Amino acid sequence: MQTTPLVITSILNFAEAAHPRVEIVSRTVEGRIQRYDYAGLAARTRRLARALQALGVKSGDRVASLAWNTHRHLELFYAVPGLRAVLNTVNPRLFDDQILYVLEHAQSGVLFYDRSFQPVVERLADRMTTVKTFVLMADEDSHDPGTVSALNYEALVGAESDAAFAWPVIDENAGAFLCYTSGTTGDPKGVLYSHRAVVLHGMAAGLSSAFGLTAFDVVMPCSSLYHATAWGLPFICPINGCKMVLPAEKMDGASLQELMSNEGVTFSGGVPTIWTMYLAHLAQTGGSVGSLKRIIIGGSAVPRAMAQTFKTKHGVQVLQIWGMTETCPLGVVATPTPALAAGGEDHVDEVIWTRQGRLQFGIELKIVQDDGTEAPRDGETSGALMVRGPWTIQRYYRKDADAADAEGWFDTGDIATLDADGFMRITDRAKDVIKTGGEWISSIDLENIAVACPGVKIAAVFGVPHPKWEERPLLVIEPHEGAAVTKDAVLAFLEPRIVKWWTPDDVLFDAVPLTATGKIDKKVLREKYRGHLAG
Ligand code: ADP
Repeated sequence: MQTTPLVITSILNFAEAAHPRVEIVSRTVEGRIQRYDYAGLAARTRRLARALQALGVKSGDRVASLAWNTHRHLELFYAVPGLRAVLNTVNPRLFDDQILYVLEHAQSGVLFYDRSFQPVVERLADRMTTVKTFVLMADEDSHDPGTVSALNYEALVGAESDAAFAWPVIDENAGAFLCYTSGTTGDPKGVLYSHRAVVLHGMAAGLSSAFGLTAFDVVMPCSSLYHATAWGLPFICPINGCKMVLPAEKMDGASLQELMSNEGVTFSGGVPTIWTMYLAHLAQTGGSVGSLKRIIIGGSAVPRAMAQTFKTKHGVQVLQIWGMTETCPLGVVATPTPALAAGGEDHVDEVIWTRQGRLQFGIELKIVQDDGTEAPRDGETSGALMVRGPWTIQRYYRKDADAADAEGWFDTGDIATLDADGFMRITDRAKDVIKTGGEWISSIDLENIAVACPGVKIAAVFGVPHPKWEERPLLVIEPHEGAAVTKDAVLAFLEPRIVKWWTPDDVLFDAVPLTATGKIDKKVLREKYRGHLAG
């Protein structure tokens, strides 16, 4: 058999040949709606590649982006790896010093940025030692780079022709994307995705056991292109012939609803916080979900109440997914099976909504207990979740030691169970587990219950030092705007739903801090309230 390398440009070539007229619709940062198709994407990408070559970008170089979900960012997703260079997608929600750290660590020579990030670039430009070329991703007539001497994206692309540009031959194990973890503990860590990993991941994610996409789907990624390649959707869509809709930075409920109904979006995905805003908007306006049929939610546990509202009020199926930057990022997806269906619809919902997902071909899972032995697959025994496979990390970028063990197993830092049907359930992140009187409380389970209490927008549970019990849980609640929620009401809501010793020692009302990837920032909460139960 042939040994054709698995490379990212082959996805673009395929889309151009197989479904050239399937649309790609993007909001732009200027607020326009840009429309073209896979043939148009391929043509502009070739021109961009020529422009990058003209800028001196060579094989192995790192090119950085600070950008939203737009067609321009999508073009960089293909042009940079297509030239055998590496696209370092920087998360703009990181702190200034972390953004600088990432750029310096990746040693990126060119920085592409949306004009929303002009202030950050202006603040940091003098401290960037490796970036020599700045490119502002804006329409030519709105090009206003301020104090930074930046080229214009459209001018660069416009100056090139796409005629007879042949992509170079690429080694499938070469790096394509450099994605950093959000660094809630310590500096962000770089994960270099190879072409092979991205292609295999992209092929697997569309399967019926996972996203189950067809050419009839219209897909809007609300997971960020800068965070672990938006769950691979920029590759999964062209592989499956799906129309793509890109929302730029407009992830508020009203903007999402408008774009979704205008473009006939059937499938979307994003972290729970986005869907909280979207559902709140629908509830306020009585608006409809349009053609939306299914959404994938991950990054944090899906609140049960959210999945239920989507189903009962809007007829939308929620599929929970789990993954991490270190797994490209997809690990498992919660899709039904005949075995589940035999137990009835309620049983299917219960499992799909409360498990992170089931085993997918290409990524192996096992649970390891404290004594080093593998836990039984009984759905009850929890332990450290280990993963391995062709899109799992071997070693962090520019680190000396492997992150995976000698057999390839990578410890995810999550605590989970696995059952006989291959469904995995996360009970906590190892560092968030609350240890109280020799027992464990799952902060995720408690949050999931608390967030269903009327008026609660976000519920955060974390352990703080306690003189007698080692740690006890506190519950911090951010209510919906205008909702009157009281401590007594929350405790009364929890009482019939949890065992007594799980009851939080206090319920506080505060704004819940989120990390750069939209997760509850428990480190900040633990620090803020560390003395709350002392003495
Ligand atoms: P970060 O940089 O914030 O760590 P990642 O996306 O790499 O960003 O985070 C991965 C982690 O997110 C996982 O290890 C897990 O703890 C959490 N996570 C992802 N999906 C889920 C989910 N469906 N349920 C619970 N936790 C999740």
